[in-house]
Amino acid sequence: MKCRYCKAPLEHTFLDLGFAPPSNAYLTEADLNKPEIYYPLKVKVCDSCWLVQTEDYAEADALFTPEYAYFSSTSASWLDHAKHYADQMIEKLNLNRKSFVIEVASNDGYLLKNFLHRGIPCLGIEPTRSTAAAAEKLGIPVLHEFFGKALGERLAIEGKQADLIIGNNVYAHVPDINDFTKGLKAVLKRGGTITLEFPHVMRLIEQAQFDTVYHEHFSYLSLYTVSRIFATAGLSIWKVEELSTHGGSLRVFGCHQEDSRETQPSVSAVLEEEAVHGLQQLQTYVTFQTRADKIKDDLLAFLVEQKRAGKTVAAYGAAAKGNTLLNYAGIKPDLLPFVCDAAKAKQGQYMPGSHIPILAPERLESAKPNVVLILPWNIAEEVMQQNAFVTEQGGKFLTAIPSVKVHECGFC
Ligand SMILES: [Zn+2]
Repeated sequence: MKCRYCKAPLEHTFLDLGFAPPSNAYLTEADLNKPEIYYPLKVKVCDSCWLVQTEDYAEADALFTPEYAYFSSTSASWLDHAKHYADQMIEKLNLNRKSFVIEVASNDGYLLKNFLHRGIPCLGIEPTRSTAAAAEKLGIPVLHEFFGKALGERLAIEGKQADLIIGNNVYAHVPDINDFTKGLKAVLKRGGTITLEFPHVMRLIEQAQFDTVYHEHFSYLSLYTVSRIFATAGLSIWKVEELSTHGGSLRVFGCHQEDSRETQPSVSAVLEEEAVHGLQQLQTYVTFQTRADKIKDDLLAFLVEQKRAGKTVAAYGAAAKGNTLLNYAGIKPDLLPFVCDAAKAKQGQYMPGSHIPILAPERLESAKPNVVLILPWNIAEEVMQQNAFVTEQGGKFLTAIPSVKVHECGFC
């Protein structure tokens, strides 16, 4: 296999998680009697451009059905993050009724509604029917398509170039990152701004976030590599912000290469930080597996210990990252009898691979487990606050990343 960006041969493995079902392929009760398809889950690193990327596997297309059940609006902290971002951009870019904003992967309209409320024309691009329908109900126009060079060029011809193009948590999910970036270039108005948010591979490595690896996630990105991909497409990055979302993300600000905007010191600062973290050294990548394995072993040992001691355990948050962790560790309902999740669409279903049932959060109140494993560790604080009764009734919270940790009170 060749690197998706620079086409150099991929010779080094970053992480091999064996085989796993798609992390968003939640199962119904009827599905439990059917065979389940497992795909290889292996991540390589390119030693020429340092793009960390999922290895290709057969029948990948079957994975990406447009019925993905995740609705962005279910996380309160993510909604706050979106509102704050929109207010900031409207002010800094002087956006008004004559401006045009495009969001790629606009989901249920969680972000664009903030622009709509301020009277700024916008367009969402979202192939997933259920989430796109939710956005349309809010009055946001949505194109039900995948974004790439062809769509970017078509919109440009239709006179729909944007002053601001937003891509939050989509860049890492794109199989053809060069084609996607060319699409951004095509649909960007002269003088316009692109902002992309994606998990920072530097934080993934630093905090051993191996559970954020799943099939739908094609790339794990650094500023260094994204700068190179942008340059190839005729774009440049003039500013970058480090965010705490998703365990540590980057928000990069792009513009046309010929734009006169000055590059801000934040760009060289993050590039320097990445170099210090060894992101351009092979050793940093090839030692990651051992660290992931230690977490898996520690978690398994902890759960077995609880079972032998007669303690009860449950999990909170039926997140994709939880499926990666549970499947890699081989955890089944005997060690973890149920997972609670606030998203009604997931309740009554089962986790792929592990077949652990997903129940409403109220179940934690009646079952009173001794330990609650928080799978989406990135919102652990929010979960502990919303479910403070767990500690009040004598239970403890547990997180597995960056290392297995029992939280003695609800706020540490
Ligand atoms: Zn490469």
